[in-house]
Amino acid sequence: ITPQVLAGKNVTITAGPTIEAIDPVRYLSNHSTGKMGFALAKACRNAGARVTLIVGGKVPIPTPLLVNRIDVLSAEEMLMTARQCASDDICECHDDHDHDHHHHDHDHHYHHDHDEFGNDIEVEPVSKATDIFIATAAVADYRTRDVVPQKIKKTQDQMALDLVKNPDILATIAKEFPEVFVVGFAAETQDIEKYARGKLDAKNLDMIACNDVSRTDIGFGSDDNAMTVFFKGKDAAVSLEKASKDIIANQLVSLIGKQLAGKFTL
Ligand code: C5P
Repeated sequence: ITPQVLAGKNVTITAGPTIEAIDPVRYLSNHSTGKMGFALAKACRNAGARVTLIVGGKVPIPTPLLVNRIDVLSAEEMLMTARQCASDDICECHDDHDHDHHHHDHDHHYHHDHDEFGNDIEVEPVSKATDIFIATAAVADYRTRDVVPQKIKKTQDQMALDLVKNPDILATIAKEFPEVFVVGFAAETQDIEKYARGKLDAKNLDMIACNDVSRTDIGFGSDDNAMTVFFKGKDAAVSLEKASKDIIANQLVSLIGKQLAGKFTL
């Protein structure tokens, strides 16, 4: 049985690509498969966490059991959803609770229920706000400035798209919710340590897992991964050898658990 290192924690994970509309039938996106995010969702669930998985694009992977999946398209939608998860009880609204018998006090997350004799009882307040935010999504760096309302006609020989930068979801959550433990991913082809630590600092993360995308046997689309993990305020790094994304996900969850418990010395 998996050690329950994330028991009672609320974990929010972003996964997959984002889809940025150009017109009603066309979009900008990328080849992210979402596999790492789905593997992490399972690993966090197995470690005792309540997991919300915010999935961009149209990822055809089935939703892991007991994971609360929210599908979005664009980076802006993904950010809005991540903010809601970090601050309030969006997860509640997706539950199939019998609302005649469950009254939610939205300010305090108090649940009222009935015991076996029909007496009204108050259930311990449970916070649904994110404790751990893990960003695996391959967010499109740019979106079109305006979505063209009608299908663009191929009348011109050349055309240019006017693009604007998308918000950085990970950096925004780290900034707006400093109490949340934030984990980022990075894919680099060179100077891995320099760029990974640069992102750790720039985005104010607690942990970053970096893979070397110049290796063709791992990463993007592959079932395998190998990572180097860096932590805020720690000089040493942890190397995770090439293994399936499921195994890597379990190792990352165990590192997160150790960090949270303060039992981690490097
Ligand atoms: O800066 P870079 O795109 O390399 O950072 C990668 C990390 O930041 C990943 O964890 C990714 O999910 C996250 N990210 C994000 N929003 C963006 C860009 C990246 O959450 N707009």
